Amino acid sequence: MATVKGDVHDIGKNIVGVVLGCNGYDVIDLGVMVPCDKILAAAREHGAQAIGLSGLITPSLEEMAHVAAEMERQGFDLPLMIGGATTSRAHTAIKIAPNYSHPVVYVPDASRAVGVVTSLLSETQREAYAAEVAADYAKLREQHAAKRGVQLVTLAEARANRYRWNADPAYVPHRPARPGVKVLKNVDLAVLAEFIDWSPFFQTWDLAGAYPQILDDEIVGETARNVFRDGKEMLRQVIEGRWLQANAVFGLFPAAAWNDDIVVYADEDRSEVIAHWHGLRQQHQRPAGKPNYSLTDFIADADSGVPDWLGMFAVTAGIGIEKKLAEFEAAHDDYRSIMLKSIADRLAEACAEWLHARVRIDYWAYAPGEDLDYEALVKETYRGIRPAPGYPACPDHTAKAEIFRVLDVPKNAGMTLTDAYAMTPASAVSGFYLAHPEAQYFAISKIGADQMKDWAQRAGLSEAEARKWLAPIL
Ligand code: SAH
Repeated sequence: MATVKGDVHDIGKNIVGVVLGCNGYDVIDLGVMVPCDKILAAAREHGAQAIGLSGLITPSLEEMAHVAAEMERQGFDLPLMIGGATTSRAHTAIKIAPNYSHPVVYVPDASRAVGVVTSLLSETQREAYAAEVAADYAKLREQHAAKRGVQLVTLAEARANRYRWNADPAYVPHRPARPGVKVLKNVDLAVLAEFIDWSPFFQTWDLAGAYPQILDDEIVGETARNVFRDGKEMLRQVIEGRWLQANAVFGLFPAAAWNDDIVVYADEDRSEVIAHWHGLRQQHQRPAGKPNYSLTDFIADADSGVPDWLGMFAVTAGIGIEKKLAEFEAAHDDYRSIMLKSIADRLAEACAEWLHARVRIDYWAYAPGEDLDYEALVKETYRGIRPAPGYPACPDHTAKAEIFRVLDVPKNAGMTLTDAYAMTPASAVSGFYLAHPEAQYFAISKIGADQMKDWAQRAGLSEAEARKWLAPIL
């Protein structure tokens, strides 16, 4: 098993490894960011009976399709299992399975892994099972091909139907109280602990349900209480023993929108451009009266004469995690190793929530009197959003490069980007701050070739490169 090249997340894969191990399988986990050649060489060297690939971010989908094609080319006949947050049954059927003439199976979560592997390796079941999966995927491909597809309007039409707020004189962008780049190292983990959204913690452990109700759930309640108790205990140790360090860096800059780009300026002269965020716009046919949104719509146009602002941020809670992980791994304590990664992830998200609050209240100070309780924060009911590159409103991961460069994130927070724009340490969050009261999340879904070409030109990329980075939405 391996997390593919360019990707760093492996909690789900670790859990699958433990579950398979408990069921008598010998699992060789090659770790994260594993190039195709290394995966295939290891499979040969160890005489593997199956290969499992995992990935969190969308560029990993292309990498998995590449591994499947290489397995075909090199004459492999082992079954291939696909898992991880970015993957799906449809994607496996449509993009990966056609590259390989032997079984390819999507594994939705760790609880299914044993069933899948057992079926794939069983001498009596494997042919029937493989045929069943192949038939299911063939049907999915047929349905996909027969679908009318998303009805797209042209980019020009989408732009003409943008969301407009410049016409609203009641809203004036707020000048940040403390503009520029700020570095906050060694953020107090005890403070961050109060900001943890626990629901995703249970998802990590394949337990369905929202916190706190999940603790009393009839089916998973007892397991949820146990894992919660262990998580809280480890959180206490992390804080007391300073096992992890959390760093944050952010900046508030003068900015203006232009042709679906956001232009970021060095200072209020607005003469020196320090960054571009090449935005994307919804291009699917929208219901009457609904705009074709782009996040750039929430920033004042360059020619409006209205001075506006944009924030960028990057946070991590994973500094120093390797040391403890190495200890746990040496003691073959998979449970604590996975638990620490999941706690570090929670602290990173908590850091993003905490920092956003500080920005709204103190640094940008457009909501100085904000006083929201835990539940309101978890629901993100506050004014303003923090869209994260790779998520539906801004699915382009390459935007992280600008954030990392402008904020000098490697130096200021100790984080870096892989060649596929995954962040390391894995427990990390980065994104933009938009303060407009109407700013909201949405999904770009699909775009047309006209927008892909326009975006390539704005980003200074070849069409082939643009196609690669935008593949999930083309
Ligand atoms: N409380 C959660 C926060 C993560 S999910 C946790 O602890 O895990 C919510 C975050 O995902 C948002 O703050 C935003 O950064 C990002 N997000 C969600 N939907 C988005 C969208 N459509 N476009 C861009 N970013 C989005």
